Amino acid sequence: MTQAPKIGLVSLGCPKALVDSERILTTLRAQGYSFSRDYEGADMVIVNTCGFLDSAKAESLEAIGEALNENGRVIVTGCLGVEESLIRETHPSVLAVTGPHQYEAVVEAVHSHLPPVPNKFVDLVPEQGLRLTPRHYAYLKISEGCNNRCSFCIIPQIRGDLASRPAASVLYEAERLVKNGVKEILVISQDTSAYGVDLKYATSPYHGRQVSARFVDLARELGELDAWIRLHYVYPYPHVDAVIPLMAEGKVLPYLDIPFQHASPQVLKSMRRPANQVKTLDRIKAWRDICPDLTIRSNFIVGFPGETEEDFEFLLDWIEEAEIDRAGCFEYEPVTGAPANDIGNEVPAEVKRERFERLMEVAQDVSVAQLAKKVGRTIEVLVDDVRPEENRAIARSKWDAPEIDGTVIIDDAAGIKVGDKLDVTVTASDEYDLFAVPATR
Ligand code: SF4
Repeated sequence: MTQAPKIGLVSLGCPKALVDSERILTTLRAQGYSFSRDYEGADMVIVNTCGFLDSAKAESLEAIGEALNENGRVIVTGCLGVEESLIRETHPSVLAVTGPHQYEAVVEAVHSHLPPVPNKFVDLVPEQGLRLTPRHYAYLKISEGCNNRCSFCIIPQIRGDLASRPAASVLYEAERLVKNGVKEILVISQDTSAYGVDLKYATSPYHGRQVSARFVDLARELGELDAWIRLHYVYPYPHVDAVIPLMAEGKVLPYLDIPFQHASPQVLKSMRRPANQVKTLDRIKAWRDICPDLTIRSNFIVGFPGETEEDFEFLLDWIEEAEIDRAGCFEYEPVTGAPANDIGNEVPAEVKRERFERLMEVAQDVSVAQLAKKVGRTIEVLVDDVRPEENRAIARSKWDAPEIDGTVIIDDAAGIKVGDKLDVTVTASDEYDLFAVPATR
């Protein structure tokens, strides 16, 4: 039997890029390729790059260099692919360069440099495709691109305007994932709350019914599946209010990942953030009245050009008042090609660092207080990892997204397996994690 050609893949960047990598792998697998976990075992390496920040570009270029040194046959794809000349100047020996979402182009490039060997024994694709996340959770990408024009961001230049998938296509994919063992679906896009605007909320047939490509309708339909549904990258538009009752009913996880980036009206305006005019604090309070369990995760940028000490203190007070349960923070970094570079009025590096530290301290205090409220409660968790030697399992609650939030550390965990969902009683908390024991013991 002829050996199937082996591909290595280095996947950099955000969950959206990870989904792209999964699609590339799924397609190649369907065509008879196999995969190598190391450079030596691969006949060729694909590097899926990130081009969001200059530091990410540098990391991508470094990864390409490493793949060339270790393997020598490299195809580059992903967001940095739009800067082909930069890649070719730095690494003239790359075999091909393609941009984001060009699955066909990547696959074509693979074909021309490493032709597939048809083989009925390796051509089978598992029904759920090949995912790079563990078996029990999966990302579900509902749209590409973005209609917003935040001044610090070049994603719309790279990925284009919002292009939503029809509701039925999203729902059938979600259904397939659940059928294949996925217990948590993480809904992602650049702006999840804008889903369907480009389609004018068109309906599509799903099990003989017409389902509209509308954020709330999609959330409601996903909520009928037997899986946790977690919503990422949502903005506080008024229409998001309608999804909160679904959270209170337990159909969708009471979790919203809203990248606020700032709270000061001046900074938000200069960032050109979506929904910057809405009274967000009032909105969050109203949401929590309906769904007291709601957890809000957010990211913030400190040291944006023109950010004053007053703006920054406004942000700190706002984080406390909004009780942002989970906060991440970046020091502002200019992105080549982004309009924010023309604002001037830069914040000195040491001030950025100091603000970053102050923000993280406030965020940690809020997190400590929010998590302490959970002690004594019995909650459902999903197990990500087991450590039999310590008799422990590492799980997540409905308030924790994988990779970015805290965990629930379960003691007395004999017999618990990865992917299990079970009830645990919370016995203690710290800055970011909860500690628990199985509820039935
Ligand atoms: S919402 Fe703003 S930051 Fe997010 S992708 Fe769109 S333009 Fe970029």
